[in-house]
Amino acid sequence: MNSVVNLVIVESPTKSRKISKFLGGDYLVLSSKGHVYDLPKSKLGVDVKDKFRPEYVVVRGKKKVLQEIKKASRGAKNVYLATDLDREGEAIAWHVAASLSGVKPDQDFDFQKYRRVVFFEITKEAILEAFRSPRSLNKNLYDAQKARRILDRLVGYKLSPLLWNKIRYGLSAGRVQSVGLRLVVEREREREKFKEEKYWRIHAGLVPSKEETKAFEAELIAKDALPYEAKQKVLLFAGEYLVTKTSIKSEDQARAIIEDIKNYSFEVGKVEKKEVKQNPSPPYTTAAMQRAASSFLRLGSNQVMRLAQRLYEEGYITYHRTDSVKISQQFASKARRFLEKKFGKQFIPSSARCYQSKSKTAQEAHEVIRPTAAKDLLAVRKEIEHQLGAGEAKLYELIWGQAMASQMAAAVYERLVMDILAGPYLFRAVGSVLKFEGWKKIQKLKDRGQNAQGEELPEVGEGEKLKLEKLFHTVHQTQAPPRYTEASLIKDLESHEIGRPSTYAAIVSTILDRGYVGKEGKFLFPQDTGLVVNDLLVKHFPQIVDLKFTAKMEEDLDKIAEGKRKWVLVLKEFYGPFEKLLERKMKEIKKEEVVVMEKTDKKCPKCGSPMVVKLGKYGKFLSCSNFPKCDYAEFLDDKHTPEDEAKVDESQLQGKCPECGGELELKQGRFGRFIACSNYPKCKYTKSYLEKIGMRCPECKEGEVIIKRTRKGRVFYGCSRYPNCKYASWENPLKQRN
Ligand SMILES: [Zn+2]
Ligand SMILES: [Zn+2]
Ligand SMILES: [Zn+2]
Repeated sequence: MNSVVNLVIVESPTKSRKISKFLGGDYLVLSSKGHVYDLPKSKLGVDVKDKFRPEYVVVRGKKKVLQEIKKASRGAKNVYLATDLDREGEAIAWHVAASLSGVKPDQDFDFQKYRRVVFFEITKEAILEAFRSPRSLNKNLYDAQKARRILDRLVGYKLSPLLWNKIRYGLSAGRVQSVGLRLVVEREREREKFKEEKYWRIHAGLVPSKEETKAFEAELIAKDALPYEAKQKVLLFAGEYLVTKTSIKSEDQARAIIEDIKNYSFEVGKVEKKEVKQNPSPPYTTAAMQRAASSFLRLGSNQVMRLAQRLYEEGYITYHRTDSVKISQQFASKARRFLEKKFGKQFIPSSARCYQSKSKTAQEAHEVIRPTAAKDLLAVRKEIEHQLGAGEAKLYELIWGQAMASQMAAAVYERLVMDILAGPYLFRAVGSVLKFEGWKKIQKLKDRGQNAQGEELPEVGEGEKLKLEKLFHTVHQTQAPPRYTEASLIKDLESHEIGRPSTYAAIVSTILDRGYVGKEGKFLFPQDTGLVVNDLLVKHFPQIVDLKFTAKMEEDLDKIAEGKRKWVLVLKEFYGPFEKLLERKMKEIKKEEVVVMEKTDKKCPKCGSPMVVKLGKYGKFLSCSNFPKCDYAEFLDDKHTPEDEAKVDESQLQGKCPECGGELELKQGRFGRFIACSNYPKCKYTKSYLEKIGMRCPECKEGEVIIKRTRKGRVFYGCSRYPNCKYASWENPLKQRN
């Protein structure tokens, strides 16, 4: 039995196992194990003189895969291409089809004869339905993928040599990643520019005088109808930032106000009671899932995608690369039935909730990320934990909660706003009581960080006298706009329509892997090399790092996918001017200027010229500004200065001692720092403190490089995921990459 009736091609072994179970014996399902054709690594691989013709080569190790597919296809009545439904999936399908037709991917072939099958979820129902209505290969989708691949290749392979020439060998620049880097750099500078200011707030503890009830708190908000608080908008490179402060600028001022207030008696002013409805938010898109997984599960963006991929391939969730919030009617009604049965009619709205995609480019055919079954969480979660792992189970729980909550009734609060008068002063107390849980019944996570709802307030009427129990001030400080996290960077990329669900995670990991950006806890900051590369691009290739230009490029790619633009024209429009600019800049840019990072007030001891900080092979150093005429230079080791040593990564000290519940503290030992229980010597619990150097593990790309010591005390560099990852190096990898 060498021939089969139906041959099905997918891109992953898990998917092939799952799908063949649903299809039965007449179908042979084979996996391409990812892309089979790609541009060559060793050269540009794009003929810019001949309509950007790509010179695709078979990906290493895929010759055998293609041969097997070909062999199986002989005698097969039908060939179904069932790769993922987005552009990458379409490209894999196209490449396999070309290979089966005996041509290279860039040559013409009768692509209409292949059956393309797409589905959003890997369940029996969806698979059988999809196989009942196959379409043909979509050339527009394929062209859009091809155009992106070539565009990224042109920018990467053409711009990188310029960086080698002007900054340092081995650097690289990418199209969308450079925008990601710029966001991180701009934010860092916005933080440096931001001037923190102290301000004070004044609070009163009050009790209704008629009977003894619990005291409640009110805050001073105005005097003579002039509010103390002001909100100020700060314009950022990407978006804006709201700074809140009061006009009370010193402790003396706060004290003086308090003294004056003491001259007046307190009475209740206007009392407003309102019912406030809080609707659930829509189910997750890729970016929203990243955000939730980052804050609730503390996962990195690559990790999230890996877990989601497995959940999708095993049939637990719908396709995880999507920017649409559309939810299938079928699922919505199933969810409503489930929720009504479990919680009662009052917990579901009168009709199913639909959501509108904010993004104008959201491919409306796509669906939101949701569970494939509207079942009780616990059983499925347990099954996933058993079959796949704890990470997958936790992510599933998030996705399940969000999707289910999105179909539930609003939560209802009773909000009470009480004005309190003291002479010319106006205080306000805000209370809020949850009257009906609604969707919060299943999604309590959301409450974290949103607890500023206030407490329950006593029942008092206008004009009622209040007894002042205490009057006090608190000090606050305006905060600089926060550094990006992986998730908030993805959010900003999404809101500026840069990148797509299939590329977000890659954008972030690329700038981390290249050492342009480092991570402190979960916050991203630019490294020296990142600063220099970014500044060169901003100054000399402004379009490449421009938000609008990059968004327009993505839009053009979308138009290719919709058949509204021709891919060669889009590339031509971009590449023509880019090539000319590149040529000019190669001559124009002076290396000596690019690598200067800072001026200093030091004078060169050899020639008296001012010294500058430069980025060299091994990081920053002090150089005479008169170089190359004067070659005086000084070492400037900014890694592991005493200051750095003194820095403590507080996140590692969070939590309690697992043995006695005591606090954890950092101690200095013979072989470096370690974490110990504060109840020592009663409790002897210790664990190692990770001395991070702010770089991802170059081997597994998941852990962080940390400083370790051998038993004899010699320093080396290893991966935080040891023993899962065995990366180790005697040399500081931060310096190796310089
Ligand atoms: Zn000099
Ligand atoms: Zn302890
Ligand atoms: Zn590692």
